[in-house]
Amino acid sequence: MNEARKLRLATVSLGGCFGCHMSLMDIDEHLIELAGKVEFDRSPLTDIKHCGPCDIGLIEGGVCNAENVHVLREFRTHCRTLVALGACAINGGLPAQRNHLDLGQCMRAVYGSRPGMDAGGIPDDPELPLPLDKVHPIHEVVRVDYFLPGCPPSGEVIWAFLSDLLAGRTPRIEHPALRFD
Ligand code: SF4
Repeated sequence: MNEARKLRLATVSLGGCFGCHMSLMDIDEHLIELAGKVEFDRSPLTDIKHCGPCDIGLIEGGVCNAENVHVLREFRTHCRTLVALGACAINGGLPAQRNHLDLGQCMRAVYGSRPGMDAGGIPDDPELPLPLDKVHPIHEVVRVDYFLPGCPPSGEVIWAFLSDLLAGRTPRIEHPALRFD
């Protein structure tokens, strides 16, 4: 008898602090259980640079620059179920605090006059991704299947969510479990 195919899971950080990924790592011993149920594509546990066809994609962070748009669209194309993981992916979170500022002024303030920085001006290496005028939540760029709130969502919540998803159930997280701290 054929063994059931393992589901394929990918994660990525766009404009985020990697705190949501740390929370995923925080499911502790359940990581072993998770590894028994899924194969990891692009994730903190692999060195894969481009996501291939996947069943579940978890996205941390808002859309801050042109590269984020490209990576996000690649994820949407390849992931059957796409999950916005944490406040930054859902509504822009902390990076979106710059949205009420003029981006040019912001860059000049950071690179031109911040004490301790070289007076080298705003970096303009062509390899650097162009920043967007505003930070966008991911649903403004692609269709999203699930939103898992929190900053970050706790490891417990992420595990409960993934357990439901992997078992084919519609994930349901009770409100008291959602935290922003
Ligand atoms: S939601 Fe919070 S923990 Fe997650 S990437 Fe954003 S700032 Fe970091």
